[in-house]
Amino acid sequence: MRRTEIKSLLQSRDYGNEVLVQGWVRTKRGSKNVSFIALNDGSTINNVQIVVDVDDNSAAILEKVNTGAALSVVGELVESAGSGQKVEVHAKNIEVLGIANPDEYPLQPKKHSLEFLREKAHLRYRTSTFGAIARIRHNMNFAIHKFFHDRGFFNIHSPIITGSDAEGAGEMFQVTTLNLKDIPKTYDGQVDFRQDFFGKAANLTVSGQLEAELAALALSKVYTFGPTFRAENSNTVRHLAEFWMIEPEFAFGDITDDMNLAEDMLKYVIGYALEYCMEDLSFLSNRQAEEEKSKKTDERSMELIEKLRFVLDKPFERLTYTEAIDILMNSKPNKKKKFQFVIEGWGADLQSEHERYLVEKHFQKPVILTDYPSNIKAFYMKQNDDGKTVRAMDILFPQIGEIVGGSQREENYEKLYNRIKEMGIPEELMWWYLETRKFGTVPHAGFGLGFERLMLFITGMSNIRDVIPFPRTPMNLEF
Ligand code: ATP
Ligand code: MN
Repeated sequence: MRRTEIKSLLQSRDYGNEVLVQGWVRTKRGSKNVSFIALNDGSTINNVQIVVDVDDNSAAILEKVNTGAALSVVGELVESAGSGQKVEVHAKNIEVLGIANPDEYPLQPKKHSLEFLREKAHLRYRTSTFGAIARIRHNMNFAIHKFFHDRGFFNIHSPIITGSDAEGAGEMFQVTTLNLKDIPKTYDGQVDFRQDFFGKAANLTVSGQLEAELAALALSKVYTFGPTFRAENSNTVRHLAEFWMIEPEFAFGDITDDMNLAEDMLKYVIGYALEYCMEDLSFLSNRQAEEEKSKKTDERSMELIEKLRFVLDKPFERLTYTEAIDILMNSKPNKKKKFQFVIEGWGADLQSEHERYLVEKHFQKPVILTDYPSNIKAFYMKQNDDGKTVRAMDILFPQIGEIVGGSQREENYEKLYNRIKEMGIPEELMWWYLETRKFGTVPHAGFGLGFERLMLFITGMSNIRDVIPFPRTPMNLEF
């Protein structure tokens, strides 16, 4: 007999049919005559109710049916008398595939804290919350590929081990096969990387952008979607040491095209979630509402689904960094020194408190900031004629702050070369990148979207550790 997945079983109306369902027990309750088992197989957030008549035979089996146990059930699909669901299964035969001893199994049918579940990350997929997040994550992954594929972008696999550092040194993980107990040194006491695996220093990638640019300057429209590593020692709820980044890059376009692409993409994937993930989103929305009730402050965040629709409704606000600084300088929290980092004037790097003020308080919608001071941005961004700003664009979201960072790229060889020199970036690491500006250079642009930041926004979760299955953060490498 073929197994029916619970998702399709719950939609079936073939009452009287014999079915096979397999899954894990969420709860068991009942009386001495009848037992009700809520079974879940992960195909949907919803459980199917298994009804078991208690007799001598089934009583022995039911003893082993505890939360977390795996079951294989053959029974009759019947119309449900209870409210909430249309169908249930009257069991004829139950086989316990795997027991879960209730004295040992950590996930009991009660509310567990997210902190506790992070310590049980090997089992947390089995909770409704993490099942929902996993299904949404899959759908968002798919939606992003679909968005780009439908628009003629090619997916490029950029390397994970790299010899270059796109963003400036200091936050990269080193990759080496050198014996750490006996590191070879050069005559002047430096590590002798000539003896290392690649014959030079190697790192894990912090961005696939530079390689994506090479591809864009031949294929016109490309994107990468790969793992990204940053050894930044910032233990925030928005940073991971290992995360996934989406980086489109396209030729023959400028910063306005870049902003349009990013805004379209964000709206597309959010719309996709609303269309295809509604059951999981509703669950997370209720979960968030419960959480809010127990909070002490009276600051309420917007209901999850309402918040997602809200982003789709209006165009994002677009303004320059300089205009944003004016708004922030004149803002109450800045004047009253309520910001942790008070803005003293033009040139300040914006912190997430400033970004969130602009989005949540001032404009009350997503904001795109452009034309940042060149000295707080990367070397490859296109320089404006004013000599002090670059054609950068950051998208700021409620709750998150920066979700997208992008720019038009400097396509002029001289300007790029001078900037690389100015910033002390070793030319010998960048020769290949510079050559693209010598041979058939064209205006081009792109951006980076942190996949987990998007997931934070879509699920309404507040800690980035809860939207990736096995988070890597400082001092944390279990599982
Ligand atoms: P932030 O200022 O928030 O650290 P950034 O300026 O370092 O971000 P970029 O280098 O522009 O970020 O990277 C592009 C995108 O990647 C960001 O907009 C963000 O969505 C995401 N991102 C950056 N660092 C992390 C991280 N450590 N963990 C998760 N996502 C990240
Ligand atoms: Mn950063």
